[in-house]
Formats: sequence, structure tokens, C-alpha cells
Amino acid sequence: MSVKKISILGSTGSVGQSTVEVILSQAECFDVQAVTAHSNAELLAQQAKELNASQAIIADPAAFKPLKELLSGSGVEVSAGREALLEAASMPCDLVMAAIMGFAGLEPIMKAIEAGANVALANKEPLVAAGPLVMAAAQKHSVTILPVDSEHNAVFQVFDEKQRRAIERIILTASGGPFRSWDRKDMEVATPEQAVAHPNWVMGRKISVDSATLMNKALEVIEAHYLFDMKPENIDVLIHPQSIIHSMVEYNDGSVLAQMGAPDMKTPIAYCLGWPDRMATPGNKLDLNKIINLELEPVDNNKFYALKLAYECLYSGPAFCVAFNAANEIAVQAFLDKQIGFLDIVDTVRHILDKTEQQSLKSVANIVSFDETVRELTSHYISGGAGNREKKEVHAV
Ligand code: NDP
Repeated sequence: MSVKKISILGSTGSVGQSTVEVILSQAECFDVQAVTAHSNAELLAQQAKELNASQAIIADPAAFKPLKELLSGSGVEVSAGREALLEAASMPCDLVMAAIMGFAGLEPIMKAIEAGANVALANKEPLVAAGPLVMAAAQKHSVTILPVDSEHNAVFQVFDEKQRRAIERIILTASGGPFRSWDRKDMEVATPEQAVAHPNWVMGRKISVDSATLMNKALEVIEAHYLFDMKPENIDVLIHPQSIIHSMVEYNDGSVLAQMGAPDMKTPIAYCLGWPDRMATPGNKLDLNKIINLELEPVDNNKFYALKLAYECLYSGPAFCVAFNAANEIAVQAFLDKQIGFLDIVDTVRHILDKTEQQSLKSVANIVSFDETVRELTSHYISGGAGNREKKEVHAV
């Protein structure tokens, strides 16, 4: 594998740390340009030194001073703030790992694409909110979007673009999360600690809550629609509690191609870092001798109705996808802050969607502005007592 110039956006997060681990396992193959974080100066400084990165960028200006001190004499260039993050995303690179959490990653991803870097995309929320713009920009700049999300990475590996007309369905698998066998009465009183305790994956807090509500799978249906240009009715979801079959593609001759692997993000990360070659990973490997069962079962849409909302958003138009994501990000944070209950998360999103109207969103600026409006309305709704289901009322979006 030839040496790749790479930047890691969100290097201090769960995906970011796994990316650093994979890179360090074959450090001679990578030339790290920038590493970025929101406010974790300590870990960012450590990573910048270990990776011998050219730049370390911290989005929160309050963390600039500690970062500068930690990296003094190291030769790593240090900067802070949103503008510095956008500049870092634009640095000439072969590959940018997009691992920021949430919609905040949209503009950095667009900058990376405009600079002509291929993008390893973990950060799904920007694609959900701005899929048509992101994919059009990638096409315009001849950039490949490599999906890091294990399900989309699996699909990418078995999706034969030359046989596109023979592809009938994408089947995304979902672990079902920690509450798969709970009833709604118990979920009503589920705590943040219970919700982030995922049975198979170790992830950041937001995506862990999304996995518990199945909102993660809902976001992934929208992500798959844009990444693979598949109609919503040709994207299905099945529960697969073992998280070994990461997803499947069904062809018109009846063949169903699946990708399997241990539930370890280092495998899809290594796939993207090595692409178009394969590289060895320091991650867990599948021991087929130890696999007793590979179960697949349908989703209980009465218990988890986030998925249904995602399909409705796709049929209603891109503005609904923006609202879907923005309302969820606010509701998840409110749940983690113990302002609302677990079931209120998806109820809040549904309520905001009911008030959403179609918008013409032609630019990133339009989307950022609409996203902001939805966030304000969702926060207002929550502070007005979203947890009390009888009193829900917000102004029309
Ligand atoms: P984490 O919360 O663990 O990490 C998020 C990273 O983004 C951190 O480096 C954080 O910095 C940084 N960050 C957060 N907010 C901002 C901001 N406003 N501006 C700049 N940087 C910011 O998230 P995960 O690693 O779990 O997830 C990252 C993305 O990847 C998400 O979109 C998620 O859905 C997706 N994903 C994650 C998977 C996983 O296994 N974790 C699997 C598949 C997809 P700091 O540390 O300083 O706060």
C-alpha cells in the first residue's frame, strides 16, 4: 500500500480512537495531516504526538491554551475554533476520516469533498440531513465516499455496481439494542446508563442511545438511500442480535451476498483506510467455530416506530430528513440530561415532524439555517414539557 495522506476529524471519539489504533498498527503507510477534537485537549495532544501529525485543531476556543501548552516544543501546529476546523478539513489529503458526532460534521465534510479528498464517512447525520448535496458534491469533485458505518461498509463490499440493475434489495441488519426484549412499559423508565449499555458495540453516547431507540437504524435507512441510490421500498431492516452479518444485498437471481465479521469497528475502518487495497487490522477476528446461532427476525414496529418515521421522511422530502435528524439530536441530549424519558425521544421527533412543512433547501447554508430552526423548536417543545404527553404543542416549523 502506498503512503496515504490522511486527516482524522473527531479523532478523540470512539471511531476516531479506533482509527488512530488502526493507523498506528501500520504507521509507515500513513502521513497524518490533521487531527481534530471538540474539547478533549489532553487526548488530542497525545494522538498528535503519537501520529506525528502536522496539525492539531480543537473546535472549542476555550481549549486552545491547554492544547498549546501540551504540544509546546512538539512541532505540531495548533489552532482552535470552527474556522480552523474547516481549514483543516480542506488540507490536501488522499483521505479524510469523518468521525465528528452529529450534524456539526456537515460543513467539514463538504470542505473535504471540495478539496478533492476521498471521505471515509462514519458521521452519518450530515448525510441524512444533506444527502443530495453531499452526493452531488462528491460526484462533481470525483470523490469516493467510503462508508465506515459497519452496515453500509458491508453493503459497499457486496454491492456490485456493474450489476446495479440486478440488485433488488439492500437488507440492513440491526442488533436490536439493549431493549430488544423489553416491553414499552419498562422502556418508559429506562435510564441513560441502561440505554448506552449496548450489548455488542462500544460506541459514543449519542449513537448508543440511537441504537436503543432504533433511531440509528432509521438514520441508516436514509443513509443507505443516498449512498447507494436505492429507493426506500428496496431497503429492508432485519434484527440480527449477534451483529455478525453486518448487512446484505439481494440480486434478482436469488443470490443474497452478506459481509460478516466480529462486531469491531476496526474492520470497516481498516477497509476504508486501505481501500482499494485490504490491510490487516489489530481488531477482533471472527471465530466461526464459536458461532452457535445466526438469528434473523423482523423488527417490532409497534415497539420501535423510529424506522417507520424514516421511511415517511424519505417519501415526504429532504426537509423532513433534516427535521428528523435535528429533532433527534436535541431529544437524545435532553434524555441524556434527564429532562425527558426514553420513549419521549421518538415521540418528540414524531411531534416535530408533524409540524414540519416541505422547504426548498438548495444550499448547505439553507440546510444549516433550517436545522437551527428545528433545533430551537425542539428545545422549546422539550422545555415546555415534552415529557408530559398530553401537553405537547409547538408552533408550525
Ligand atoms: P463520539 O461522541 O465518541 O466522538 C465524537 C468526536 O467528534 C469527538 O472527537 C468529539 O470531540 C468530536 N466532536 C463532537 N462535537 C463536535 C463539534 N461540534 N465540532 C467538532 N468536533 C466535535 O462519537 P462516535 O465516535 O461514537 O461517533 C462519531 C460518528 O460516527 C457519529 O456520527 C456516529 O453516528 C458515527 N458512527 C459511530 C460508530 C461507533 O461505533 N461509535 C459506528 C458507526 C457510525 P471531543 O472528544 O473533544 O468531544
